[in-house]
Amino acid sequence: MKKIKLLCFDLDDTLWLSKPVIQRAEQVFYAYLTSAAPALVERFSPEALRAHRLDFLKHHPKFAHQISQWRIASLSDALTLCGYKTQSTVIAQEAFAQFIAARQQVTLFPHCEEVIRQLSKTYTLISLTNGNADLSQQPVGQYFHANYQAEHVNAAKPEPALFLKALEIAGCKPEEAIHIGDHAIDDIRGANAVGLLTIQACLKTDSPEPDALADERFNDWRELPIKIEQLVQG
Ligand SMILES: [Mg+2]
Repeated sequence: MKKIKLLCFDLDDTLWLSKPVIQRAEQVFYAYLTSAAPALVERFSPEALRAHRLDFLKHHPKFAHQISQWRIASLSDALTLCGYKTQSTVIAQEAFAQFIAARQQVTLFPHCEEVIRQLSKTYTLISLTNGNADLSQQPVGQYFHANYQAEHVNAAKPEPALFLKALEIAGCKPEEAIHIGDHAIDDIRGANAVGLLTIQACLKTDSPEPDALADERFNDWRELPIKIEQLVQG
């Protein structure tokens, strides 16, 4: 029998489906720009703005793990190109505020909240995301001890930093923790390399093949407590 103290959770495509959330946030972002910066919208389609953002990162690699600052700085740059010299920072910050508010409008997978609530009675829960969803703004966030984004440690999964942060905060060893996430490389391989047990979330209809290194996997949140118990029993 193993002594498990900590459960780490990925967020996007583990607690909720991310694609519709991000699509909606991108729409809100662009709609704001349509009214606040018509000259920018005239020059940049949503796709062109995305291409500009990617190109901006090539020239400013310091933003690689700072996705929020990257979006603000690249938009500010695009606004400047379109003649919004003095207002570029203000417009970029407001556009980002609209985007990030929409980014938090998620719909949890069925049974996720009740299972999280149940697990929080036994384990310390910490969320670890490469994205910029903020779980503390969600009702389900009340069950989590801490929430970390790649931006907080300036390193994204599968690098060890986020996993090590969770272990440090929970005061436990890698073998006393399970990481639960959907992504084969970022979640399963990343956590496995640090020595955590892993459970792969296979919740999307188009989920890829489960990773061979995952210790367990689930495709319905109601199965998760059983999978955890199986790992505890070893
Ligand atoms: Mg994910």
